Amino acid sequence: MKNSEIAQLFDEIADILEFNGENVFKVSAYRKAARTIREMPDDIEQIYKNNKLSEIPGIGKNIAQHIEEYLKTGSISKYKDLLSEIPASFVEMMKIPNLGPKTLKLLYDNFKINTLDELKNALETQQVLKLHGMGKKKIENIKRGIELYLSKKAAGRISLGIALPVVFSIVDYMKDVCTDISPCGSLRRMKETIGDIDILCTATNTKQVIERFVNYPGKHSVISEGETKGSIIVKENLLQVDIRVVSPDCYGAALQYFTGSKEHNIKLRTIAKEKGLKINEYGVFKGDKKIAGKTEEEVYKVFGMPFIPPEIREDRGEIEAALDGNLPVLVEEKDILGDMHIHTNWSDGSNTVEEIVKRAIEKGYKFIGLADHSKTSKFAGGLTIEELRKRNKEIDEISKKYPEITILKGMEVDILGDGSLDYPNEVLAELDFVIGSIHQGFKKNVTERMLKAMENPYLDIIGHPTGRLISSREGYDVDIDMVIEYAGKTGTCLEINAYYDRLDLNDTNILKAKEKKVIICIGTDAHSVYMMEYMKLGIGTARRGWLGKNEILNCYPVREIPFKRKKMVQF
Ligand SMILES: [Zn+2]
Ligand SMILES: [Zn+2]
Repeated sequence: MKNSEIAQLFDEIADILEFNGENVFKVSAYRKAARTIREMPDDIEQIYKNNKLSEIPGIGKNIAQHIEEYLKTGSISKYKDLLSEIPASFVEMMKIPNLGPKTLKLLYDNFKINTLDELKNALETQQVLKLHGMGKKKIENIKRGIELYLSKKAAGRISLGIALPVVFSIVDYMKDVCTDISPCGSLRRMKETIGDIDILCTATNTKQVIERFVNYPGKHSVISEGETKGSIIVKENLLQVDIRVVSPDCYGAALQYFTGSKEHNIKLRTIAKEKGLKINEYGVFKGDKKIAGKTEEEVYKVFGMPFIPPEIREDRGEIEAALDGNLPVLVEEKDILGDMHIHTNWSDGSNTVEEIVKRAIEKGYKFIGLADHSKTSKFAGGLTIEELRKRNKEIDEISKKYPEITILKGMEVDILGDGSLDYPNEVLAELDFVIGSIHQGFKKNVTERMLKAMENPYLDIIGHPTGRLISSREGYDVDIDMVIEYAGKTGTCLEINAYYDRLDLNDTNILKAKEKKVIICIGTDAHSVYMMEYMKLGIGTARRGWLGKNEILNCYPVREIPFKRKKMVQF
């Protein structure tokens, strides 16, 4: 979704206009547009394709043209023009908390600062205190802002969904010259955000591995090229990827060591010590003698444990469970029989019902849940009751053509301001299932509204329950523990929305839901057939939450899916 990219550009345009002393209305028009686009739950590209940009509140003709230009060309010429008029480092400096464009302009005019270091130096001078509106307190605030900005930048992490395709492509490119190859680190543990991308391999010809790696076609530049290690920056998001070649007899130990987590490994080291053993990236040792290291299975076996799946290596009880023989059997890709959250072109999806069905059959799904937007989500092409019935008719037609798959008629229905659903119950009864989602009023009585919605027998699933966006939004003002508890009581399912920037519920909330015996539904929230691939992220997240197939709605044969409404409606 390009919403956050576009929002960020508009914010930067507003900053530069403000720096230039432009008209306040012009500045605020860009800020408003940035906020609207950032907070919109739906894909701006889809809205554009549906020709509905002008229907978004606060988006005038001018701004709509910028959006169109960005979607077509990947840049906005007005932004480029503005950039050419200011020092390059200003875009970055404008992101410093407590330092607005106006203050930056004041400092620039008086000190001719061009870099962050020059800014820091200027703040240490006595003259700065003489400038209009620059008291000691304000200067302290700016300094704190700089620290905050620098520490946040240093901690910069990437979304799993962005990193994963890069890693798949590199592993695929490398595998001919490697005997064994695997990503490690937080990516292998399927953590929602990751730091660096690390790949581990073994090979008969180490030199050939490094040579091939630094010539990866998607590389932007090479950072280092050693004998057993290499490091490149790839074009995609300028991510850093490191590779390390190890000898086959310590591959398992290295993979275990570099996969982490730190907490998991600390616990393992403690257990090793108690047994008089030593464990490191080369193997497990008894005195000087190496007793394991070739495979991870071998490493865990030394400690009397079966292989622990990487996704749960977080020291959340997995080591104890492994020692007691109580490790959960985690859901796998082959257990998933269908995807439950897909938008068609009846609302804001870009594919037809038939295109989606064909793709689902290719993926080996036994059923598919279509869930278009409801009428209040106008900007996402929400369906009127009449349109909904027309869509259902089309689904019936297509179902006859493809008997090998069951197409479930679902909707993603807005939970309104009073907790009621966006269609009357008699209309909801015509559907096979309903996902209820909050798309408006993120801060207004969200918990209360969700609890009330769950009392409706036709609401089967709560969609993206916390509303967070990993890259840019904290989420609803919601008491998620109460929602989980009530989901358990009412038999409502909760969603793992597998869209890469959502992954909502996250691992810790899934663990709580598991405890309350809530059934989890994985939905990709796909707006195109391409996005149906996000299922991998949903499965990874479910595994991080210790879920087995019996706890996931998508793993039931279609007639046994434990929908809440099932007691009332047969299909
Ligand atoms: Zn939604
Ligand atoms: Zn959706």
